[in-house]
Amino acid sequence: MSLVKQIEYLPIELLSATPTSVHFLFPEPTLIHLEGKQKQPLFISVLLHGNEPTSFLALQKLLLKFKDTDLPRSLSIFLGNTEAASLGLRRLENQPDYNRVWPGTELAKSKESQIMQEIVEIMRQKQLFASIDIHNNTGLNPHYACINKLDNQYLQLASLFARLVVYFIRPKGVQSAAFAEICPAVTLECGKPGHQYGVNHAFEYLNSCIHLTQISYLPVPAQDIDIYHTVAQVKINQEIDFSFNNTKSELLLDKDLERMNFTEIPAGTQLGAVSDNASMPITAKDENGEIVTEKFFSIVDNTLQLNKMTMPSMLTLDEKVIRQDCFCYLMERMNL
Ligand SMILES: [Zn+2]
Repeated sequence: MSLVKQIEYLPIELLSATPTSVHFLFPEPTLIHLEGKQKQPLFISVLLHGNEPTSFLALQKLLLKFKDTDLPRSLSIFLGNTEAASLGLRRLENQPDYNRVWPGTELAKSKESQIMQEIVEIMRQKQLFASIDIHNNTGLNPHYACINKLDNQYLQLASLFARLVVYFIRPKGVQSAAFAEICPAVTLECGKPGHQYGVNHAFEYLNSCIHLTQISYLPVPAQDIDIYHTVAQVKINQEIDFSFNNTKSELLLDKDLERMNFTEIPAGTQLGAVSDNASMPITAKDENGEIVTEKFFSIVDNTLQLNKMTMPSMLTLDEKVIRQDCFCYLMERMNL
């Protein structure tokens, strides 16, 4: 039996719903297929993380634009974790992360992973044009696109959003990595939630993509793209009590951390203070899952320091996000 609900029309209520109310229209994972002039559909997934409303608002703006006219290209829309969105949460405690359970995931099989697998199978049969998954992040980050395959079409699609492009293969189980197996696929990172320019930027991008007749196979000119490769994902060890303001915590993080996102940070930079005789409170893993903590970090005089020049991303002051997702990613510039 199918776990995914599919409809082939645009429910008019979707045009006036909010990220928090859309759950009442679509309580279950739903695919909406809308026909346009060019038949190969553009796949757009929104609200995989319930507290990242920009995806939904940009999509809604696109649908409003074409409310009374034909779509230039068919669209398939996936409304992700509407339940978490109704509460303004990334996910519920009893749910897996909706952007870690797509085919390729390392998490145990779940109802959600079966849903995502079914969606990929449904979309594979439709000869997709491209796939776009839209997110916000909580720290101060510029807008950028992520890809999981180094291929000209993927780079073209990414650089249409921003000159800053991040290539990664871990974490596993993300939407864009699953779709990268069947069509050009990107994840958009649209800055913090609640900024109208983030919504506008994502909308302009969707509007450009829906009008594309093809995606170029030519390389993106080197001067038009800055591409970084994720070299490590950093997590705070589960048992560590950390904070940005409680001086009694085992790890007291620096409040200026998020200013370091997408900036090359020199060796010796302090990230926080640790208590006397503390062992390393964080773990960095490279893209093969190997522990590389010592390569990047050390403890010197009760401070957690960087060992080498690196560029972090996704640093945030939100302690819950740090727990549920990670502390940060470390990146290095790539030359194609
Ligand atoms: Zn997200």
